[in-house]
Amino acid sequence: MALPRPLARRLRSARTWIALGVLAPFGMLVVSALMLLDLRRDAWDKSEQTSKNLLQVIERDIARNVELIDLSLQAVVDNIRAPETAEASPRARQLILFDRSATAKDLGVMLVIDADGDIAVDAQALPPRKGNYADREYFTVHKARRDVGLYIGRPLVSRLTGERMLPFSRRIDNADGSFAGVALATLKLSYFVRLFDRLGLGRDGAINLYLRDGTRVARHPSVEADIGANIAGTGNFDRFVREGSGTFVAPSVRDGVERHYAFTQVGDLPLILNVAVATDEVEAAWRGKAVVITAVVITLCGLTAFLSLMFGRELRRRAAMQAELARLSSTDALTGLANRRRFDEVFATAWDSSRRTGKPVSLILVDADHFKRFNDRYGHTVGDDVLKGLARCLSVSVHRPDDLVARVGGEEFAILLADTDAAGALRVADKVHGALTTLSVASAGIGAGAVTASIGVATGTGVPSGTAQALYDAADAALYAAKEGGRNQTRCAPADGGGGRSESLRLMRA
Ligand code: GH3
Ligand code: MG
Ligand code: MG
Repeated sequence: MALPRPLARRLRSARTWIALGVLAPFGMLVVSALMLLDLRRDAWDKSEQTSKNLLQVIERDIARNVELIDLSLQAVVDNIRAPETAEASPRARQLILFDRSATAKDLGVMLVIDADGDIAVDAQALPPRKGNYADREYFTVHKARRDVGLYIGRPLVSRLTGERMLPFSRRIDNADGSFAGVALATLKLSYFVRLFDRLGLGRDGAINLYLRDGTRVARHPSVEADIGANIAGTGNFDRFVREGSGTFVAPSVRDGVERHYAFTQVGDLPLILNVAVATDEVEAAWRGKAVVITAVVITLCGLTAFLSLMFGRELRRRAAMQAELARLSSTDALTGLANRRRFDEVFATAWDSSRRTGKPVSLILVDADHFKRFNDRYGHTVGDDVLKGLARCLSVSVHRPDDLVARVGGEEFAILLADTDAAGALRVADKVHGALTTLSVASAGIGAGAVTASIGVATGTGVPSGTAQALYDAADAALYAAKEGGRNQTRCAPADGGGGRSESLRLMRA
């Protein structure tokens, strides 16, 4: 299918290719940048979703276990008041108060502590192990207040087993409402370590569980010194408490690493859980892809730009070559003047224009006199030099940009003068004679005045029936007359030299 002509012309233009070579890579860069930003967004969305899923799984597990512990504590509180429990044997009392959950793997101790802080009933030992807990925080809290409900204390080291535990407790009342003691159950912190360890979170990822007062209960990766540390009052913790659940990006209070935090309160318990992923790791996979894509795109863009520039340069070179060829094909090699071909073209155009506008066009034919003698006497090379000198004399005799000086034969020249009447042409012819009087070829000993020429002038004045050939013939006849008349002179064809009456020319001596 042929391309529309304006498009085909544009595609041949070096400028178009250079513009394409710059614009196409720029477009590619913009599209790639948008694509990379989109991939980055995806990486963040995916990471956020993963964090939220993890958070949900962990929160449910913790909430369920705490609920089971609390149900067991409530059972203890309810059953210890029953008269049957007081009357039962120690063994039976243990069976009434504690069910099988007391033997759960992650449960530490389960005790009933009396109003003095001594162990009254021990789920794991009969008779109960000895110990006094009057100094424990949960004991003083319950002793001081009736309405605490389930109390979750700070992590502590069990006096019975030496393990780290999280204490859960409820107050036991006497019938009159006075303080009768505390039901206590502890959860081993190793439970959290195991739970968190199951979840892969990357090298700089972290999971934290805090009490509402800012005390860290557990952390993954687990470091002994982190447990029990308090981060209340920091910007991050304030947000956890204030917003309840959500996500944000901030530097870690603990190690300064920037992380993406997904956080939530555990059920309606005074526990706050967060999953934190290092922002570096969120973007790590994306960054790898981005580096590869960017490198490929930049290479392709560079290549495209380079090839387009090269192609544009090649087109330019070709255009310059064509222009040079066109110039050479219309130039005479010896004198540098327009050649016969060019003269014929310009003459035809000038003639047409003269006929259209009615303005005169003049043709001057110049023929070197006895030129053969120069060749014979000085040789062909000197003859050539004389021809070059002659060409210069003709060139300096015209001044208007539209005037054309051409070599139309061996030692024959033509001067085409558009919009010039016979008088103007004769003035130019005179100038030619004048210039020739100064022409010399010193190297060959040819002095000024040695070279002369005969000139024939004809002027066409736009006669509709005239032809260019008739004007040329008229000028040629005038030239012939000049030769006949003794050479070194100008002859002018009568008016309307292009009018087709060259056969009846009345030649005038100029
Ligand atoms: P006339 O005054 O009657 O014009 O005599 P002429 O000798 O100039 O005329 P003729 O036509 O007999 O001879 C022209 C000579 O011009 C013949 C040729 O050797 C010479 N000539 C033609 N072209 C060239 C050229 O390119 N270089 C040289 N050196 N001589 C040329
Ligand atoms: Mg001749
Ligand atoms: Mg001659």
